[in-house]
Amino acid sequence: MRHLLNTAAVVLAASLAGACAHTHDTPRVAAPKAELPMAVAPAELAAPMTKERQARITPDIALRRLQDGNERFVHGQMLKRDLRDHVKVTGHGQYPIASVVTCIDSRSGPELVFDQGIGDVFTARVAGNIVNKDILGSLEYASAVAGSKLVVVLGHSHCGAVKGACDNVKMGNLTGLLDKLQPAVSSIPKDGSARDSHNHEFVEKVAEANVELTVRDILDQSPVLKQMVKEGKIAVVGAMLDVETGHVEFLPAYGVMKTASSRH
Ligand SMILES: [Zn+2]
Repeated sequence: MRHLLNTAAVVLAASLAGACAHTHDTPRVAAPKAELPMAVAPAELAAPMTKERQARITPDIALRRLQDGNERFVHGQMLKRDLRDHVKVTGHGQYPIASVVTCIDSRSGPELVFDQGIGDVFTARVAGNIVNKDILGSLEYASAVAGSKLVVVLGHSHCGAVKGACDNVKMGNLTGLLDKLQPAVSSIPKDGSARDSHNHEFVEKVAEANVELTVRDILDQSPVLKQMVKEGKIAVVGAMLDVETGHVEFLPAYGVMKTASSRH
């Protein structure tokens, strides 16, 4: 997979050129590592979220928590959590830090790939990680009501839904779902190579474009979330999971203002 963090702006420009003429007045920063005010002890990271702890989480910190969690996952250094304690603490109230829209793919479970516990993340899963009004309503609930600080659209490599869209598959109710991925398919400039699922590079380009389009859909179709981004209350970011390694690379974020390349 390409290094999205370094080439994100180029990828965006190339993959979306001509597909959308959207402009955004929400801040977008093509930067990867969110800066943390201080290092957080593993014991605190592994503890269940409470209202007080959620109140201290900013969009930057939420992003960094997921970035660090994925790093732990990739290296097999997941935090030791007492999930029964998580159940006990969160049973009467949940205070997640982030919402993740991702594919139903069995390899893309957000709690696993971001090394999070019970009560840490909302998840909305649908083949091809697109949004509709129901999912947007869910995300609005998650952020505006339940206090989630970050919306992540997580696409992935080797996505069956994306391949189906590339091949223009028609089957039952899947037909209508795959139609929603066609803007991503058509956004990839023609370069003479095959535009079907046999062309791995094409499929991965479509998957990335689809993530970006979903991020745009969220900002364009949810005034509630867009306003929260403007006010700095939340951020919206796209990301791609490499299912061969478990590694997640983040695309540019909307609304994340503080960034740093060094670790804290
Ligand atoms: Zn998929």
